[in-house]
Amino acid sequence: MEYQKEGGGSGGGTNGGGPMPMPMPMPVPPPPLYSATMVIPILGPYPMSIKCPHCYVQTFSEVHYSSGLATYLLSGGCCLLGGALGCFLIPFCLDSAKDVHHFCPHCKNFIGRYKRIG
Ligand SMILES: [Zn+2]
Repeated sequence: MEYQKEGGGSGGGTNGGGPMPMPMPMPVPPPPLYSATMVIPILGPYPMSIKCPHCYVQTFSEVHYSSGLATYLLSGGCCLLGGALGCFLIPFCLDSAKDVHHFCPHCKNFIGRYKRIG
């Protein structure tokens, strides 16, 4: 009467619950960079709703007109076309021919400029 003796005892490997796979550290994409510079909206020739970059108040800009390059060019054009009849002064009287400066009505800071040319 003989029986085979299961030898060893500690021969089996640990096949059942294998070692947990190491979680690979995923490369984290860098967060999107937001530029710290305030984005000035495109300014038009009229008062417009803007957020002041100085006092951060949502308001309507104050506009001031000043003679710009377009004014002088129009003046020169009128001078050439109409001669010295004084009509070359007309563009200086037309707000639509002048550069527009936008100011904040709250803090009175300069916000931006709308240029007719350039
Ligand atoms: Zn302001």
